[in-house]
Parts: sequence; C-alpha cells; structure tokens
Amino acid sequence: MNLPQNKSCLCIFCYKPASFHNLSQNQNGFSESDFLKLFSRYIHLGQERYKQVPIAEVMFCKNCRVIVNSFCDCYSKMEFIRLEMGFKLQKLLQTMTAADKNLTTASLFQKQFKASPKLDSQEVNSDFKSIYKNIKELRKDFIIHCKVEAIKDRCKFLLR
Ligand SMILES: [Zn+2]
Repeated sequence: MNLPQNKSCLCIFCYKPASFHNLSQNQNGFSESDFLKLFSRYIHLGQERYKQVPIAEVMFCKNCRVIVNSFCDCYSKMEFIRLEMGFKLQKLLQTMTAADKNLTTASLFQKQFKASPKLDSQEVNSDFKSIYKNIKELRKDFIIHCKVEAIKDRCKFLLR
C-alpha cells in the first residue's frame, strides 16, 4: 500500500498534529508498538487486529502521548505487582503443602477443633467439626487456585 508523501501526521486519538513520530522508543521507554501490545493485552484484543495497522501510521499528539506513556507505565507496574502477588501465593502454597506433609502438626491443628471434655456437648462438638471442615475446604480451594494460577503464569510466559 502506497501512502501519499505529503500527507499530514495527525494523532490517531484526537486528530490533532502529532508531536513526535519515531519508530524507536521515546524518552519514557515506550514505543508506539509497546502501547499497542500492552493496550491489546489489557482489553484482550487479538494481535491480528492491531497488527493490521501499519505502525508508521500510529502517531500521538503531545497530550495523548502523555496519557499513552502513563498507561504503559501503569500497565508495567500492574504486571509487576501481579507477578509479585503470584510469588506470594506460591510461597503460601509451598508452606501449606509442607504443613500437610507434617502429620504431627496437622494432627495438632485438627485437635484444636475438638471440644473440651468440660464443654462436651453434641452441639459444641458439631460446631467445631464444621469449622474444621470449612477450613479444610478453604485450604483445598486455595491450593487448587494457586496451582491453576501457576500453570496459567507458565503458559503466559511461554506464549510471550
Ligand atoms: Zn492526540
């Protein structure tokens, strides 16, 4: 596709004159293609959609570039925080797995939910059992979630 030589360079967002057009990275470290990539990821837009637009035609005016750079900056921070949260959850998952393998402490934990003989009544005992069961269910949900997230993270990393 041949584009006119003397065509104007207008911002793709506001149609005002583009202030900066450089295929390489700008001073904030984000290029036009970085923005398209991050924005598409953010709105779950397929790569084939934005790759139909020639990158040389993606131009921003001064005002829109400030917003674009800020968006890219926030996105990078969000990705970093998401990764950090993932690490924390994996650490908790390892802790829980190790705790379950230690039968002594696992049994002590279970005993915590046995009613004291002094308070022994059918009702109290049943409440304790139900609390223990709910904690075990919560742990199970947590473990499943952490394992699924770890697999998703690995897949995302491989697809990059
Ligand atoms: Zn603009």
